[in-house]
Amino acid sequence: MVDLQSQYANIQDQIDSKIAEVLKSAAFINGPEVHAFQTALENYLGVKHVIPCANGTDALQIAMMGLGLKPGDEVITADFTFAATVEVIALLQLTPVLVDVDPVDFNISIEALKKAITPKTKAIVPVHLFGKAANMEAIMEIAKEHNLFVIEDNAQAIGATYTFKDGTKKKAGTIGHVSSTSFFPSKNLGCYGDGGAIFTDDDNLAHKIRGIVNHGMYVRYHHDVVGVNSRLDSIQAAVLNVKLPHLDAYNKARQIAAEKYNLAFANEKNIITPVICEDSDCHVFHQYTLKILNTDRDALVNHLNEKGIPCGVYYPIPLHSQKAYADKKYDEANFPVTNQLVKEVISLPMHTELEDDQIKYITTTILNFINNS
Ligand SMILES: *Cc1c(COP(=O)(O)O)cnc(C)c1O
Repeated sequence: MVDLQSQYANIQDQIDSKIAEVLKSAAFINGPEVHAFQTALENYLGVKHVIPCANGTDALQIAMMGLGLKPGDEVITADFTFAATVEVIALLQLTPVLVDVDPVDFNISIEALKKAITPKTKAIVPVHLFGKAANMEAIMEIAKEHNLFVIEDNAQAIGATYTFKDGTKKKAGTIGHVSSTSFFPSKNLGCYGDGGAIFTDDDNLAHKIRGIVNHGMYVRYHHDVVGVNSRLDSIQAAVLNVKLPHLDAYNKARQIAAEKYNLAFANEKNIITPVICEDSDCHVFHQYTLKILNTDRDALVNHLNEKGIPCGVYYPIPLHSQKAYADKKYDEANFPVTNQLVKEVISLPMHTELEDDQIKYITTTILNFINNS
């Protein structure tokens, strides 16, 4: 699905020397690499504060802690996403409210979101799924009207651009009150282990969060709030400092691969390809995900595996049907899109080093299977 070895081979000299510098300095925690990365990412995103932390799941949890959400507060998020999003809501004893998604871009459905708002709703967590930002303009309007916080889960869309109706452009993750991202190795900006970050333009919230990631300390050994231990290692920051200047080129390589896939599938009516928007940066293709119609999707997955083609089903089970998050408040009739998507989606290999002959082999194998089944 990803080819991290080839990507490393292209930047090996820089990575190896940066890591060697960290080893010699022995500044493993909160060293200069971490500070340099924080500033570089603030500049790249155009956001006032980046607070690095240990992983993307922590980033989400810490963002919610920073906002002061209280047990029983309702937090609305998408039913069709990775479990981390709902997991931290539940861990903080907030009440997750899962809603259906849009059939075209798989992001939170604005209609379903509106219907789910109650007097207890305190926050919305849009997930920019597969690399494309959710409808942030509508979400921010709804949030304003109902006085809700918006926490963007930007783990899959770093570098993506969102365009407002008036033409204004902003980077995904800089629109809501606070955002989280992940530097898990296979993410669009991945380190060589775990890593994450929180972004916000709000000075007070940033200050609060800087304490929370460090055991609730603002002054050494004075613990003002309950915190956690969540740090980005200097070695991981060093890797990210080498990779961040390549992020736009990496995202471009993904977009070009996506266009080639789309072209190959253009005449197959049983394959629904992802939409490539006019502003190509609106989608950074963390995943390249098709909808497969009138075909046994799981048989296709098996066939591709037999042919040596990796593929993934993200996600095979709606969150509202997962044992940990099922609840009698959920009515199946409210999840027509997610319930359908889990049967139809398939994600193909997508990374920065895809070669034309690989794309050709993958697309021909899929088209042959669909035409002969
Ligand atoms: C990867 C991911 C996370 C979690 O990130 P980790 O760094 O693995 O903890 C959260 N949300 C989404 C949507 C993700 O894809």
